[in-house]
Amino acid sequence: MSNNQTKYIFITGGVLSSLGKGITAASIGTLLKHSGFRVGVLKLDPYINVDPGTMSPLEHGEVFVTKDGAETDLDLGHYERFLDNSLTRNNNFTTGQIYKSVIENERKGKYLGKTIQIVPHITNEIKERIILAGEKKDILIIELGGTTGDMEGMPFLEAIRQMKHELGKNFVMNIHVTLLPYIRTADELKTKPTQHSVQELRRIGITPQMLILRAEERIPKEIKKKIAFTCDIDEESVIEAIDASTIYQVPLNFKVQEILTPIAKQLDLGQLKPNMREWAELVKKILEPKRKTTIAFVGKYLDLKESYKSLTEALIHAGANLDAKVDIRWIDSEKIENNTAKQYLIDCDGVLVAGGFGERGVEGKIKAIKYARENKIPFLGICLGMQLAIIEYARDVLEIKDANSVEFDKSTKEPLIFLIDEFIDASGTKQIRTATSPLGGTMRLGEYECNTKKGSKLQEAYSASTIFERHRHRYEANPKYREQLELHGMSVTGESNGLIEAVEIDNHPWFLGVQFHPEFTSRLQNPNPSILAFVKKSLDGKINS
Ligand code: GLN
Repeated sequence: MSNNQTKYIFITGGVLSSLGKGITAASIGTLLKHSGFRVGVLKLDPYINVDPGTMSPLEHGEVFVTKDGAETDLDLGHYERFLDNSLTRNNNFTTGQIYKSVIENERKGKYLGKTIQIVPHITNEIKERIILAGEKKDILIIELGGTTGDMEGMPFLEAIRQMKHELGKNFVMNIHVTLLPYIRTADELKTKPTQHSVQELRRIGITPQMLILRAEERIPKEIKKKIAFTCDIDEESVIEAIDASTIYQVPLNFKVQEILTPIAKQLDLGQLKPNMREWAELVKKILEPKRKTTIAFVGKYLDLKESYKSLTEALIHAGANLDAKVDIRWIDSEKIENNTAKQYLIDCDGVLVAGGFGERGVEGKIKAIKYARENKIPFLGICLGMQLAIIEYARDVLEIKDANSVEFDKSTKEPLIFLIDEFIDASGTKQIRTATSPLGGTMRLGEYECNTKKGSKLQEAYSASTIFERHRHRYEANPKYREQLELHGMSVTGESNGLIEAVEIDNHPWFLGVQFHPEFTSRLQNPNPSILAFVKKSLDGKINS
């Protein structure tokens, strides 16, 4: 079943969740990429949902959207940000998708009347998808979600075991990430949970060749020795991952420990010398920035900042590339509703209104937009943020007092934001949307081409007349009002096949609303141009220019 000579690194987690397996996987991938390999990544999600698109952000954090429009796990975002690669729907799958295809195949009679079982049918489907994700790559890094021992993870672990058996030792490596808890009363880092977790893996038939140990502080040499001995792992393959001040520091921390030496040995990769110079310089600018700017982040899910992960990371990227710290001032849009926007925004250098769904907090966001517009503070409105910028402008400048979105008022008389019935998606296929179509799978998703207007802030930011950005929304700006808006100073500066993708206003230093989500394409080494331009403008100061 070999696919050229792709080599596979499986990353599992033990003891408990939230150990940062995704960052670990992305960091190892980064070091390998900077050593000259074509590196692919794959996230396996053992939950039964077909995709995370309909999961609450409170349950699952952000839904990350790939270029080809898949709604995926937020870890894919980390992979793109670290590896500076665009991933596709082949880079993430769930138990739900596996069972869905196997059941569909069974209905089509593909299994010739056989009894369908976890082994071999489910495990074969898993392996086929792993092989597919590894095509044209030298190394594929596969992160298995969840914790070893979870019931849902079993078929995946069995598939991993089989791959090792089938491909042989120089093609498959298993890395296990665990926790070393610190027990204060004993003043000790405890190794027993790690030992048990490794035993659990071995019981399933997987022997990890490397352990990555999460700990709050440096791990003494004797403890590493003890773990190597009890878990039957080479000492050089016991790697520590202590809490870092920025996630982008993690690959550098691994490099210092020469993590690639045992990986290269296991997978027969030769001598590796990752060039991390540029990366290290950016990390230094994150840790010791020369300047600072304060951005008001007006949003709704402030209890769960993970749901804005790509955006907060994109601000870090922009800051790093400008040698500046971007201080985020979190502002709950519902609080602005009953107060003046001024009291929250007065000392901010930029105002950012993020995307969102539903009516809650909308009027507060509109107040924040009005404040940024009237006080000439650099403003970036993303997705819902752009839609609300249009509504605010229509209400206040065009004096269309009832201006609204059909998302909030189905029978509004002035649908500045509306639902188009059909549109051509990025692959050229006609999509139908109606008010009653189910919520999952009816959005405009993924990358669309956008033409930028000459002389606009948008075109200036990207230095390009055609740009590509990703979408995730159901509603659109209504072209019926375009002429009226433009006559009054709000122009459309980005368009995609007749759809309004960006708006700007006259007499303002920097005011941009975009229907797309620029944050999904921002990477540490390649920050998103519109977010970079926004942060730069905020740094330059809000007065005149
Ligand atoms: N709720 C809006 C829509 O569906 C905006 C979505 C978003 O901000 N991602 O069009």
